[in-house]
Parts: sequence; C-alpha cells; structure tokens
Amino acid sequence: MDPGSRVLVTGGNGFIGAHCISTLLQSNHLVRATVRSSAKATATVEALKAAGVPNLQNLETVVVEDPTKLDEFSKVLPGCQGILHLASAFSYEANPGEFEEKLLKPALNGTKVVVQAAAKYPEIKRVVIMSSFASIYDANLGLQPGRVYTEKDWCPLTYEDGRDAGHVAIAYRASKVIAEKAAWDFIRDNPVNYTLVTLCPGMVFGRMIHPISSLSQLNTSNQIVWGVISAGEGREMPPTKGPVWTDVEDLSLISLRSLTYPLSSHERFLTTEGSYDTQEIADIVRAQLPDKQGRIPVGEPGKRIADTHFSCDSAKVQKVLGVKFRKLEDSIVPLAKQLYALEESPRL
Ligand code: NDP
Repeated sequence: MDPGSRVLVTGGNGFIGAHCISTLLQSNHLVRATVRSSAKATATVEALKAAGVPNLQNLETVVVEDPTKLDEFSKVLPGCQGILHLASAFSYEANPGEFEEKLLKPALNGTKVVVQAAAKYPEIKRVVIMSSFASIYDANLGLQPGRVYTEKDWCPLTYEDGRDAGHVAIAYRASKVIAEKAAWDFIRDNPVNYTLVTLCPGMVFGRMIHPISSLSQLNTSNQIVWGVISAGEGREMPPTKGPVWTDVEDLSLISLRSLTYPLSSHERFLTTEGSYDTQEIADIVRAQLPDKQGRIPVGEPGKRIADTHFSCDSAKVQKVLGVKFRKLEDSIVPLAKQLYALEESPRL
C-alpha cells in the first residue's frame, strides 16, 4: 500500500479512529472513514480541522448506519486498497441481559462483515483489525506476577461467557475475543487476496482529536485518567484495572505501518507499551501540573504495582514494524491538560 492509496477506516469518529485518520492523511493516503450518522460525519471533519490535521481534502466520510450488514458495508469498499477496522462498542454502559445486543453482536458481526466484504474486492491487499489485549490475557487467572503475555496467548472467553457474564467488563473482553477469532477463522477457511493483521493494545491513553464536547462523552479508556485526576486530594487512589497501556499516537503509527509495511504472512501483534498504575498517573500529573494537586489523590507516591502482576512482551511489533513507544508521562500530561480545559469550558 503506497502513499496515494485509499484506506477505509471504520469508526472514524472515535478516539483512536481520529488519530488513525490523521496519521494516514499525514502520510499522504486517501482516507474514506465510516461513521453511523451524517451529524457524526460533520463533527468528525470539524474536530480534525480544529486539531490542525493536514490534507483534509483527502478525507471522505461515509455514513454506514448499520456496519453489521454485509450489503450496506460492501458498498463503501470500491476504490479502497486497505481497511482499518476500529468500529466496535468499547463501553461499560450495558447491564446483564443486554450484553449480546450491545457488545457481542456488533463486535462479532461487524468484524465478520469486514473480512467477508474485503474478500470480494481483490484490490484490497491489507485488512487491519483493532483487537485488544483483552483478547490475549485471561483475567480469570488473576494477577499472575511473573507471567509474560505475548501474541501467542488467547483469552479463553467464549460468546456464551460474554452473554451470560455478571459484569459488563467480561462481556466487553469476550466481544473482542470472539470478533478477532472470527477474522482468523474466516481467512483460515476462505481464500483471500489480502494480508490480515490484528493489533492487541492495552488501555489506550492520550490527547484527543475526535469530536467530544464535554467530559460526559469521554471514551472509556481516558475515563481511567480522568477518574484519577479528578478524584480529589484527600480521596483514595482509584484501583488499577487492566494495568497495561498504549499511547494513542503510537497506536496510530502502528496502524499505519500495519497497513503499509511489506509482510509475508498474516500477523497478530501485541501492542502494549508496558505497565501503568493509577498511582503513577497521579504522581505524573501532580508533579507536572502542580496547580491541580488539590484534585488528585496523594496515595503512596512512587509505589508501583508492576511486580505484582503479569507483564507483556511487545518485542515483535517493535522489531517488525520498527515502533518505539513513548513514556507514560508524554501521553498523560497533554491529555490531563485537555481534560481540565474541557471541564472548564465544554464545547456546546
Ligand atoms: P470510541 O468509543 O472512542 O470509538 C468507538 C467507535 O466504534 C466509534 O466510531 C463508534 O461509533 C463505533 N461504535 C461503537 N459502538 C458501535 C456499534 N454498536 N456498532 C458499530 N460501531 C460502533 O473507542 P476507541 O476509539 O477507544 O476504540 C476503538 C477500537 O479500539 C474499538 O474496537 C476498541 O475495542 C479498540 N480498543 C480500544 C482500547 C482503548 O483503550 N481505547 C484498547 C484496545 C482496543 P458511534 O460514535 O456511532 O457509537
């Protein structure tokens, strides 16, 4: 996939989607981004413009109201040489009994449609799917200090586990596992003209350039950061859940390279930068934004939990795609500044 080729990005109005669009445009690709309404299309272009994203004349937004319908989705593919599939519900706003409709079916059917539709267009050479560290690690095994996860590992959650889960986080994790597995099953069982790449990031943090007008619309992973930096100085440190992370701009570069680097086989990449904990977020922001110390729990400064839980080996993505990960501080501080500004003046 050379510069000038067209990439379809699904979920272009999302936190990660907007950065991926920006990175693709900066490297002179044509981008066709799917969103679910014309209002979201307009908001996405406006937000990218406000963020100073270049080459916006090379961005086309298309409305696909239901991206789980093969016919509807297939219509937007002609002229594309690659697909970056991000659209999926990453939300904990669902109750037991709703998990199938709100999380599992959209994730599974959305991914199936992508791999099936792509197979109908031989000019599509690369399909990159945003999976998750959730599809790698087994939360049932607990913290497992000393355990090192790689892309060879698979979370054992099934559709039924997600459907019948007592907690929404389990259902979300199951949605990512079954969706990614469906993609691998499809290319195992069907001839395809493209290379499949799946990416498995940890919690993704960083500065936002997607449409967001108030903190009530904050995406799920950045809510972790806001939860720490708005808790209040005298409060307890919020617990760390999902203790590995990835910066959103690093991930968008990984996505670009996954689309464009020559690869001789289908690949799965574990794309976590490393461990983080809420204490570390608090320590960083308290030090870097001292006027905000009254908003942030003190906890036990310097205490880290990395040696109490599993870790990740992301050597493969660093070697194959030449990625260097940034430090947590470089991801969190710009985000924290942006979140406080948004609190002060929501964009109405
Ligand atoms: P956002 O919530 O910011 O964006 C999600 C995108 O998916 C939006 O475009 C949204 O569109 C779309 N979407 C949500 N629900 C559905 C649905 N039911 N059917 C079709 N599209 C839907 O999330 P992120 O940018 O954080 O996540 C993007 C992808 O990255 C997801 O696949 C997520 O699982 C994955 N990921 C995210 C991580 C993170 O920490 N953020 C970590 C690992 C993986 P709309 O606005 O119309 O709802």
